Amino acid sequence: MTQELHIVGGGMAGSEAAWQAANMGVQVVLHEMRPQVETFAHRTGNLGEMVCSNSFRSDDDEQNAVGLLHWEMRAAGGLIISTAHEHRLPAGGALAVDRDPFAESITAKVTAHPNIRISHEEITTLPGDGQWIFATGPLTSEALGAAIQAETGADRLAFFDAIAPIVYAETIDMDVAWLQSRYDKGETEEEQKAYINCPMTKDQYESFIDALLAADKTEFHEGETAKYFDGCLPIEVMAERGRETLRHGPMKPVGLTNPHSPEQKAYAVVQLRRDNALGTLYNIVGFQTKMKYGAQTTVFKTIPGLENASFARLGGIHRNTFINSPTLLDDRMRLRSRPNVRFAGQVTGVEGYVESAAMGLLAGRMAAAEILGKDMPTVPQDTAHGALIHHITGGAEAKTFQPMNVNFGLFRPLEGLKGGRRGRKDRYKAYTDRAKSCWQDWLAAQG
Ligand SMILES: Cc1cc2nc3c(=O)[nH]c(=O)nc-3n(C[C@H](O)[C@H](O)[C@H](O)COP(=O)(O)OP(=O)(O)OC[C@H]3O[C@@H](n4cnc5c(N)ncnc54)[C@H](O)[C@@H]3O)c2cc1C
Repeated sequence: MTQELHIVGGGMAGSEAAWQAANMGVQVVLHEMRPQVETFAHRTGNLGEMVCSNSFRSDDDEQNAVGLLHWEMRAAGGLIISTAHEHRLPAGGALAVDRDPFAESITAKVTAHPNIRISHEEITTLPGDGQWIFATGPLTSEALGAAIQAETGADRLAFFDAIAPIVYAETIDMDVAWLQSRYDKGETEEEQKAYINCPMTKDQYESFIDALLAADKTEFHEGETAKYFDGCLPIEVMAERGRETLRHGPMKPVGLTNPHSPEQKAYAVVQLRRDNALGTLYNIVGFQTKMKYGAQTTVFKTIPGLENASFARLGGIHRNTFINSPTLLDDRMRLRSRPNVRFAGQVTGVEGYVESAAMGLLAGRMAAAEILGKDMPTVPQDTAHGALIHHITGGAEAKTFQPMNVNFGLFRPLEGLKGGRRGRKDRYKAYTDRAKSCWQDWLAAQG
């Protein structure tokens, strides 16, 4: 008799993990606390409940990284993605679903699976033995959050995200911006040039503050508390506190010299910091925000050097429980300090229904392979799944780790392809072709 796999949380990640492991022949116990214990966002006791939007975003598997993730999940027999397609609603190129029939169908399929047993209970500890996957999501129960914190240390588990926008490096105008760390700090040239700086004149700064104050903002969801910590105030809240606050905070112009115009002292400077080891993504330092997405794009494109910027991810602040995966997890999603415990889904620091389900797919397969004593080849980095898992378990900067959507900035660049906007279509097609081929090889290697 093989060992059982315990999965905690029957959301996007947990349901997918259970499905994948059960299809490999492993006996699964899926522990879901709803409906006995509720969260502020879920409404039902169904598995796979979508708590907010009903969209799985773009379904374009040639030009969009989320669409590619859909494709890979379909190729791997994904429960979430195939059920989403069964309940698809018209939404142009996006995959929107009829949410209640979708969740009812996930619940019915998982319940009917001969290898899965559902146990409605809250799990409040990290067990010392057995094989476990924790997929408890952004609203992980309080008691379990405390247990995770006791294991990982208080600074490795966050209860809110504070997401600053992330820009594709190649879309920053380096004829305006320049590379320099404040006061050229650092031992190596790389460290001395760790930031991209965008200068502002007084007029540009004043217009920027006006735009920030006027921009549309999103409200916190019911049940979320607007607990702003001084370290992560939204920029618009900083601007409300005083027009000069940002200039003395994240936009202070000190310790920097603009090589394009060394005589002219910038009135304010927006800094961007490298966000991944590949150097393809930069986050705007200190620019976490509750501005609506449309407003963010408009306001941030007024920053000199970012007029043509493309954003891999826009900013936000949400109630979101997530661990510092780059320091805590190995490349098989196991807790380094307790390898019988895996994490999956949004709690690992990915963001969104699709990304969470994808991490569930990987965790389910990895745990099942381990239980069955099967070899599982490493997930190829050039796939959408591989790019994401590689980012959260190693590629991301651990110190500033914040949840991440899948995007092409996480992919290793391909040699010999044209950069910039002009080459984008060919580049994305080449990335998705490469990914599909690697993903098929990886699936085939598992038999
Ligand atoms: C208010 C809000 C709005 C959101 N809006 C969107 C959106 O529009 N689009 C989007 O893509 N993403 C959105 N998200 C993020 C979304 O929740 C995740 O992307 C996705 O649901 C994560 O999947 P998951 O499986 O990791 O977590 P979930 O789907 O949340 O599943 C986790 C499950 O674990 C259960 N659980 C928690 N603790 C325990 C415990 N101790 N014992 C047993 N069970 C437990 C929960 O009841 C839940 O069923 C939103 C999140 C929140 C909080």
